[in-house]
Amino acid sequence: MRILQIVTAWLIVIPHCGIHGFGYNKREQHLWPKKYKSCAGKQQSPVAICTSKAIVKSFPALELIGYHDFFPMPQLLKNNGKTVILSIDKNETQVYRTLPYIFGGILQNQTFEMEEVHFHWGLKNNRGAEHVLNGIRYSMETHIIHYNMAYGNYLNALQHEDGIAVVASFFQLQDEDNERLQPFISKLPDVQWAHTELSVNIYLTLASLIPSNTDVFYTYKGSFTTPPCCEVVTWHIFANPIPISFRQMNMFRKLLNGEGILGDNFRLLQDIGQRKIYIRRLDPTVSMKDIKHDGFTNLSWFWV
Ligand SMILES: [Zn+2]
Repeated sequence: MRILQIVTAWLIVIPHCGIHGFGYNKREQHLWPKKYKSCAGKQQSPVAICTSKAIVKSFPALELIGYHDFFPMPQLLKNNGKTVILSIDKNETQVYRTLPYIFGGILQNQTFEMEEVHFHWGLKNNRGAEHVLNGIRYSMETHIIHYNMAYGNYLNALQHEDGIAVVASFFQLQDEDNERLQPFISKLPDVQWAHTELSVNIYLTLASLIPSNTDVFYTYKGSFTTPPCCEVVTWHIFANPIPISFRQMNMFRKLLNGEGILGDNFRLLQDIGQRKIYIRRLDPTVSMKDIKHDGFTNLSWFWV
């Protein structure tokens, strides 16, 4: 019966969002659309973001609930040969426990629960992030994946164009370690080999994976950046990067993918086409009285 369930799930999922093998070098990426039709769609990610071309919108803040709590334990830490993934160990964690979730911003009152965190990084410092911001490609980008709770679970949500919300941050290299990342980074050697999965207890908050200033973010409609490239993602990309040391970055570059070093696992830029990229900011014509009414009490919320 269990086998039947697994086979059935496979049959349901594969046509839309199942994956076989895929590679990241240029030649391999050009093959993605041959195997996965969605990868040739018109709403693909990542894209280049240019602040001066983004449409300014005074969205409400993005509400990040549970981001300052420790990631529910135990977690699953996995090297799948394409990236390193931190997710909830659903076999062990109390499923009734509230997991981190988000709403607000362009999502309005729809709530999206956290599903997993993963990373894209370069083997060299001048590359690794997937989105390019004002011509800058940072060394790493993290994606915090959330699914629309209206669809009940992650797999169902993948079938809907408003099914997934991703919160993305860039990493900027510096000399000093980012101590808040260290509990996670110190576990990476345990999943050095491809296709290793471990149950772990890492004292990490999602807040450590986003900048302290979350007021400014870019948002647009796009896709997952890995096959099958489902066009179901509302992207939220913070303008401010978070720090990481050279030493910490190199810990990612010791992971293996089954053939060699895991890295350069970022997708080539995709055409923005007719899509708009919005940047969240408050309309400067809104009076301070109105801002106070919304709970903002000082000008620090304004940004340039
Ligand atoms: Zn990703």
